[in-house]
Amino acid sequence: MEFAAFAARCEEIEAASADTEITSLVADLLGAAKEELQTVVRFLLGRVYPAYDSTTLDIGPKLCYNALARAAGQNVSVEDIEAHLAEEGDIGTVAEQLDLGGQQGLAAFGSGTETELTVTHIETTLQDLAETTGDGSQETKVDILFGLFNRASDREARYLSRLVLSEMRIGVGEGAIRDATARAFDVPVDAVERALQVSNDYGLVAETARTDGVSGLEDIQLEVGRPVQAMLAQTGTVTDALDSWGTVGVEWKYDGARVQVHTDGTGVSLYSRNMEDVTDALPEVVEFVSNRVNEPAIIDGEVVAIDADGTPRPFQAVLRRFRRKHDIEMVRENVEVQLHAFDCLYAAGESLLDVPLRDRHARLATVVGRDTPSAAENPAETPEGVSRLWLSADAKEIEQLEQEAVSAGHEGLMLKDPESAYTPGNRGQRWLKRKPDVETLDCVVTGAEWGEGRRANVLGTFELSVRDGENYCSIGKVATGITDEELAELSDLLEPHIQQESGTAVDIAPAVVFEVGYEEIQESPTYGSGYALRFPRFLGVRSDKSPADADTRARVESLVSDEH
Ligand code: AMP
Repeated sequence: MEFAAFAARCEEIEAASADTEITSLVADLLGAAKEELQTVVRFLLGRVYPAYDSTTLDIGPKLCYNALARAAGQNVSVEDIEAHLAEEGDIGTVAEQLDLGGQQGLAAFGSGTETELTVTHIETTLQDLAETTGDGSQETKVDILFGLFNRASDREARYLSRLVLSEMRIGVGEGAIRDATARAFDVPVDAVERALQVSNDYGLVAETARTDGVSGLEDIQLEVGRPVQAMLAQTGTVTDALDSWGTVGVEWKYDGARVQVHTDGTGVSLYSRNMEDVTDALPEVVEFVSNRVNEPAIIDGEVVAIDADGTPRPFQAVLRRFRRKHDIEMVRENVEVQLHAFDCLYAAGESLLDVPLRDRHARLATVVGRDTPSAAENPAETPEGVSRLWLSADAKEIEQLEQEAVSAGHEGLMLKDPESAYTPGNRGQRWLKRKPDVETLDCVVTGAEWGEGRRANVLGTFELSVRDGENYCSIGKVATGITDEELAELSDLLEPHIQQESGTAVDIAPAVVFEVGYEEIQESPTYGSGYALRFPRFLGVRSDKSPADADTRARVESLVSDEH
């Protein structure tokens, strides 16, 4: 498929407003795709790789503007592009209005013999770009991108620039792809949904629906080495849990980072909540699993940083380990981590997703080193490294467990329906989290200000936003609770995402999530969300969360109504 045809269809989709119209346009596009179907699906979602693959293009906005400026000719600078972007607010619109191309004489890369860009050519070129590493790689990336922009029509540039920055803005989310796949290849939505849950590969699922229909979709199973989305929790009370389920599965809630363990019985891979491969960052977890698990399995759990005496440390400590790519051994000495496995998705060649939690937990205990099938009923038998699951129908007993959790240095309790299936990616009512302390919010950083005097070269006063559909709306600014050292780290983290600057104020593309505490939430006309956090306090970077996982305006609303 020519990229021009893809871009033309994106334009129609972008202009459509009703969900049904979007689904039918996407379905037509999928139906028209040939061997590039998988790529078309990923491109629609603003991806070059499947969701479970943590390879990134590693292209910041600046690099993209650089390539655009070069393709636009000598009279256009990066600053011009940034100024234009400040007016338009969308790189696609800016790219479309530039007079790209005609720079063949200067091109190191763009002077191929092909005249039309195809979807496949763009995919392979962007993959080449992703694989470019080492000295001078940033320059090479600009060259490669320049080569593409230089050959792009206005409309192609609009969608290519957005694709490169992973934000298509055409109103097509994962739900639309799911529905369009069902429609294009005449298969039930439920079958598509299930296949997506276990594979996390929208391209593969569309391709399978096309070639092998429902039976092909049913054959898609969990695979060791292909992470799935973690099952998520909602906030809730013990009363909710007892009323809904009678008997409640109670576990400690550990203050660490989610990790999905995949083992084929010998090798071990570890994935973060965002499905990034974090195997190299956690060698002691790898060692633990290699020693204890000797059959193929997929295990869900939390890694927690501990002190020399085994006391849990705040989750920031474990995230430091996730971030650290080098000198693991050195950091390992400073921050030791421990696995608390709480679920088992797959064991001995069999998916356990539809098995009730109490039985999955019993399997987990068996898989992690000891033959204790009754562990769910007899928590004292729970092996090391496995989180205990208590079954209780007594509010007082649950309260007692909560106190024990907190005095052992953990965050509180998780309340789970003992009969529930494991639903990847689903924030359902089957897992409830109960935090004894005040609520916190996970907000996306969308702006900041350069400091003054001694702090002139670091960012401070960060603008916080919550999700509202596909957009982010502001809810406050945070400047307290941040040490000088943290300010420097935060500046390094955020600087690549700066979109534009005016005076000391900067706009930042949604990329980084802060956990913030606050005293209360008030209605306020000052911020886009209509609410303001009172006395917000920085608690840490949630580097395990992407902006799509941040809290929503709807959650803020429900917190406000809870307060009254
Ligand atoms: P939150 O990050 O506040 O949405 O809380 C949910 C997170 O708590 C999960 O994603 C896990 O990382 C973590 N967690 C800690 N202990 C448990 C547990 N026993 N069961 C499930 N999740 C847990």
